[in-house]
Amino acid sequence: MNKSPWIEQLHRTRPERLLEENVSTDVAIIGGGISGIMTAYFTLRYTEKRVALIEGGLVGHGATGHNAGQIVSDFERPFREMVAQFGLEATSNAVSAIEGTWETLEELMHQTNIQVPISYSTGYIGYSTVEQIKAELENMYWRKQGGLPVETLLIASESKEALQGLNPAYQTFVSYIPNKDIWSLLETDDEQYIAVHSSKRACVNSALLTESLAGYLLQTYPERFSLFEKTMVEMIDLGSRSAAISVVGGKEVKSHRVVLCTNGFEQLHIKNSGVNLDTKFHHSVTGTVGYMAGYLDPIDRPPTANTYFEHDNALKPYEPYFYLTRRPFEIESKLKHNLVCVGGPEFDLEDLSAYDRKHEIPKQTAADLDSFLKRAYAHAPKGEIEYKYQWHGLMGYTPNRLRMIGAEPCNPTLMYNLGCNGIGIMASIFGGKRIAMMLAGKKMKPLLFDPQDMRCLIA
Ligand SMILES: Cc1cc2nc3c(=O)[nH]c(=O)nc-3n(C[C@H](O)[C@H](O)[C@H](O)COP(=O)(O)OP(=O)(O)OC[C@H]3O[C@@H](n4cnc5c(N)ncnc54)[C@H](O)[C@@H]3O)c2cc1C
Repeated sequence: MNKSPWIEQLHRTRPERLLEENVSTDVAIIGGGISGIMTAYFTLRYTEKRVALIEGGLVGHGATGHNAGQIVSDFERPFREMVAQFGLEATSNAVSAIEGTWETLEELMHQTNIQVPISYSTGYIGYSTVEQIKAELENMYWRKQGGLPVETLLIASESKEALQGLNPAYQTFVSYIPNKDIWSLLETDDEQYIAVHSSKRACVNSALLTESLAGYLLQTYPERFSLFEKTMVEMIDLGSRSAAISVVGGKEVKSHRVVLCTNGFEQLHIKNSGVNLDTKFHHSVTGTVGYMAGYLDPIDRPPTANTYFEHDNALKPYEPYFYLTRRPFEIESKLKHNLVCVGGPEFDLEDLSAYDRKHEIPKQTAADLDSFLKRAYAHAPKGEIEYKYQWHGLMGYTPNRLRMIGAEPCNPTLMYNLGCNGIGIMASIFGGKRIAMMLAGKKMKPLLFDPQDMRCLIA
């Protein structure tokens, strides 16, 4: 079973349109998730170009319809680690760019007037070990050095002694409060948590956002926007100023530029003037499958979006953590509930194409989610919980675990807004706007998201 609450909420009435004849366009976008639709939106808004969006299945049904739907401006790599690899300035510029995307989203919602609920809240991140606290303080220290805002870290007064000898430079980032207040912010009875950090968060059904934006674009730009669904791209043949895109069934799209918004490079071959682009690179976008579960509750508490680093998960890069969201949720009868969702377990795939969208959530994974919820969430129902939804989705990871946004160095006819990572909603929106600016001919300052040239050298 892969039953996502986001897909259930779509109630789509728009007819599907398949590619039934050869067409030509200025910009072909492949992949109709949040990154594809955002790229289309900004391109139509900021250029005069014609855009064709080509989706192998249905809009919003990939990772975009199978995530946690938290809007956060976090990265999945600790700030301190990015500074060590890329330097302070480059890291701060990249982080600042994503954090600035809150405004872009607000502006988009205002400009389009699409009616998609977004529940804003303060998100709390709970830490349970001194090592985790120290690592977070180091992140905060470097953020401050990079000129970025820093929220105070609240630490349990009861743990003050264990933190003796803390680097004096970190003391200004810390405030001590009673342990019970930390548990209260995290809505937990679990006494392992000894510190909490807060950040701006929001919850959205990103599939609904994507679907609604598709409807808006079709209506607003009937002359310049076309959308083809159930149209799987097999091959892109890049020329110097154009590309031929072949789809399953034999039809073809000719375009001046192609933007890949496919999450990874699933089921797609790319040729550069008839020669295969280095497949080693394209296979370097690896897959991770994330699992989630959700149940309905009475609507008697405000929205929340919390993250929990447990004892066993020392804050090492890429180690899994658990997250919990609660938000108002409307089902068929228009009855509003709270939907409580938990997620965290992730498993790497050798090969992205090995992911089966319909596979059952493994029993042990479902049990792990249930057991986390019962130990961490103070308001979890007593006894057996009836999960109305259990779902999973695929996250594509680039080797440096940052989204890749921009033109292919070997041939700029091809562009990317992909490699979603597990936190990809904000980065997809940012990427869509950045691509549109590039297509509008604006010179952009370099950023860590720029595709790196490895293949030309290898070829
Ligand atoms: C369990 C889970 C939880 C997550 N939680 C969060 C979260 O809380 N916050 C957050 O910011 N991010 C989260 N993410 C990540 C987020 O969902 C992704 O970053 C985002 O949805 C990626 O969007 P996308 O458009 O790049 O990819 P997708 O939504 O996967 O869209 C790619 C589309 O490309 C299409 N496609 C692929 N190949 C072809 C082809 N050859 N021809 C035509 N079409 C093709 C696919 O059918 C698909 O629809 C989570 C992900 C998962 C799996």
